[in-house]
Amino acid sequence: MTNSTPPQLDVIAVGAHPDDVEIACGGTLAKLVDAGHRVGIIDLTDGEPTPLSPGPDMRLAEAQAAAEVLGVQLRRTLDLPNRRLFDTFEARVKLAVEFRRYRPRLVIGLGDRTPMASPDHWQAMQITDAAVFYSRLTKWDDQFDHLPPHTIARQIYCTLGQPLSGVPVPSGQLLVDISDTLARKEAAIRCYATQFPPEKHILFDRIDSSARYLGRTAGVEAAELLVSPRPVVTMDLMKALFE
Ligand SMILES: [Zn+2]
Repeated sequence: MTNSTPPQLDVIAVGAHPDDVEIACGGTLAKLVDAGHRVGIIDLTDGEPTPLSPGPDMRLAEAQAAAEVLGVQLRRTLDLPNRRLFDTFEARVKLAVEFRRYRPRLVIGLGDRTPMASPDHWQAMQITDAAVFYSRLTKWDDQFDHLPPHTIARQIYCTLGQPLSGVPVPSGQLLVDISDTLARKEAAIRCYATQFPPEKHILFDRIDSSARYLGRTAGVEAAELLVSPRPVVTMDLMKALFE
């Protein structure tokens, strides 16, 4: 490790556009921060061009404001192209370089198609899957700015769009209790004022209802759905069931 190696992050959440991870798992990220974990967000694109936005600078300022609301330690925007995001070798390497640099234990990635909305989300899922794999490959450091391999211990999917349909095979569904961070999640999303003007405020009702419905199914006030590609193991059954 060189002196320029940045501090390790516990968790990195990856979205296609600024606002994706806030919508999909903002409450979970705020909760992880509150528990003392070091959390980063990587947006694969700057989300530009897009309707309703005056330009990239404003989008970047909104993303930074949202990151501050959530309290995350790092937010980075990669220079991959919005609307033309594809699962290419170059995109996989770009993200894997960030994983090797920040060495997260857990990666949270987008986990579903979003029919009738941006196809970038589905591409982001494939890029993230591949970058998690690339991050640990040996004998290939020259592809990754000569950063050494890093094995990511766990990967989890978060869900955009309809939270109760279209998720990957539910091998390990997890509900995170976000009762105490739902308001912060919504405040972070409201930082994207250009993306969600008053005529789009129905989104907040949808997010609020989904979180409360999911929460009620588990006996808490509000929740977010995450999906593990592998069954989730608990080391402590009583802790898992009662805390
Ligand atoms: Zn998006």
